[in-house]
Amino acid sequence: RFITFEGGEGVGKSTQARLLAQALEAHRYEVVITREPGGTKGAEAIRDLLLAAPGPGWNPRAEALLFAAARSDHVERLILPSLNAGKWVISDRFIDSTRAYQGGGGGLWDKDILALHQLGSGGLLPDLTILIEVSPARAAERISLRDQGRSDSIAGRAADYHARVAAEFARLARQEPERFVRVDGNADADETHAKVMAALTRIGVG
Ligand code: C5P
Repeated sequence: RFITFEGGEGVGKSTQARLLAQALEAHRYEVVITREPGGTKGAEAIRDLLLAAPGPGWNPRAEALLFAAARSDHVERLILPSLNAGKWVISDRFIDSTRAYQGGGGGLWDKDILALHQLGSGGLLPDLTILIEVSPARAAERISLRDQGRSDSIAGRAADYHARVAAEFARLARQEPERFVRVDGNADADETHAKVMAALTRIGVG
């Protein structure tokens, strides 16, 4: 089974991925927890390139290509072998982040991003995608806390970019209701985790 967590910055995706992995391990499932951009050596090297883009940063097309290359390595070297070995894979971000950031935020067409995903990763989609959403005020607060001292181009994105990203995530969730579950992340981590566990019943767990 392949489960992804999606959402904007600072919504608590990594914490929720970890809590879910622990819950599944308690059920004696073998779990691989990973993240994007990154997850393998090659993909982590591309992550560094992406996050350290100098000056104005990468243009949205170059960014989408780099994400697709990183994901291709991640899928081929870690995700597929783990799924084929019968393990659960939980990823903190996956293709829907590219659709929301480089698509919703950067203005690329969703169909082009999906075509790249087909080429790079055979179009692999998760069994379940948990979209964690927080209020715009809370998101802005967490982003400014997290980005203190960062001056790279990704940290420098304007609030309207983040608003477009959030809107695109919501649109994707409405468009693919059988794959997505939307979870309110405004409350504390334990409460959000309980909602995530409730969502898992959809794929027959819990
Ligand atoms: O999830 P995390 O915050 O570690 O993501 C790292 C950075 O990469 C974030 O600033 C996020 O906005 C950015 N990102 C992106 N496009 C993606 C995925 C992540 O710009 N497709």
